[in-house]
Amino acid sequence: MACWPTSAIGIFPTRAQASALNRASQIQRRVQLAPYNSFGVPAVAAYFANIGSLDELRRALEFARDKRLSVQILGGGSNVLFVKDYEGLICHMNIRGISHLPGPGVVRASCGENWHGFVSYCMNKSLHGYENLALIPGSIGAAPIQNIGAYGVDLAQFLVELEVLDSERDTVRSFSRAECEFGYRDSIFKRRAGHRYVVLSASFELSARNLPNLDYQALKEALPNPGVTPRQIYDTVCRIRRSRLPDPAELGNAGSFFKNPVVSRDKYQALQSEHGEMPSYATEEEGLVKIPAAWLLDRAGWKGRRRGPAAVHEKHALVLVNSGGANGEDILLLAQEMSSSIQSQFGIGLVPEVQLI
Ligand SMILES: Cc1cc2nc3c(=O)[nH]c(=O)nc-3n(C[C@H](O)[C@H](O)[C@H](O)COP(=O)(O)OP(=O)(O)OC[C@H]3O[C@@H](n4cnc5c(N)ncnc54)[C@H](O)[C@@H]3O)c2cc1C
Repeated sequence: MACWPTSAIGIFPTRAQASALNRASQIQRRVQLAPYNSFGVPAVAAYFANIGSLDELRRALEFARDKRLSVQILGGGSNVLFVKDYEGLICHMNIRGISHLPGPGVVRASCGENWHGFVSYCMNKSLHGYENLALIPGSIGAAPIQNIGAYGVDLAQFLVELEVLDSERDTVRSFSRAECEFGYRDSIFKRRAGHRYVVLSASFELSARNLPNLDYQALKEALPNPGVTPRQIYDTVCRIRRSRLPDPAELGNAGSFFKNPVVSRDKYQALQSEHGEMPSYATEEEGLVKIPAAWLLDRAGWKGRRRGPAAVHEKHALVLVNSGGANGEDILLLAQEMSSSIQSQFGIGLVPEVQLI
């Protein structure tokens, strides 16, 4: 006679046990994070979940709540520096999918889609606007966090809305572009009020017409105007980026380590009279100007300098690299030295663009 196990004798779990097991099954213990950050620095996550759906995200967050763990959301890891092991739960966002919504040129992409893949997809579908943002590493979900930007365009320009999970209320809601409070490498999600939201997807309204933006000098010089095609812009941006920035697959880095500092026009003029010609860009706020951090660091002689295995890139003073075997602390100490030198030489505080974890 067949003998069927029953939950009463503990071979089949009860419903409550099943749900706890289900929650825990996607959670891995003690996961090495070196493959999950573009600096390639080692750090161990006490708990790690690969998130492929909203349900999985909810279950992982419930697991963290039960165990009173802190949670860190992670996309492609190209804008973070792990300075030590992480004692909480890392949620690695991998929700995929691109769909076309009603309305001309409206496309929605899930948070785990690759940004550059999305830009290429849109260009191939003749949906234009983001060609200048080609080849920026990372995920759709992280792109609004710092309002990614390059070559005169930023994400906010074509974003319609975000769908987010409010992790405190366990509800899904949307954020319009205005509610995101975008600024230069900034959004509400970088501030305390926005920390509770996990981006699930982003919708964009792109144009069937070519919208060339050649404000950036290097593009202006390289491309014909008028008559430039979206493909030419995309290819030129990719070519310039490849020639200027190290590929994280070959040399660990997170792009620009510091934001460009914003100072008052008075301070800028005083600095100019002391240090001579100093480049600047206008900002949206009157009376404030942006100074390229790369110029300040270059002037202070940082290009190519090293601190053990942490180094400043030979061609770009704003890019810190892991030249082999560096850990997060090595890179952080180098960044702190750089920042102090700019403070003492120019009286300007540099703020990291990279999130320190
Ligand atoms: C070589 C190189 C060049 C770069 N060039 C540029 C550039 O030109 N312009 C530019 O703006 N940036 C640039 N960056 C920085 C980086 O590509 C962007 O910041 C990118 O958006 C990070 O994406 P990610 O998925 O890797 O994010 P991660 O590094 O994984 O995370 C970054 C932040 O976003 C949060 N986050 C990630 N996913 C979500 C989500 N779904 N919901 C809520 N929060 C989330 C994380 O918690 C973290 O705070 C560059 C980086 C590299 C390595």
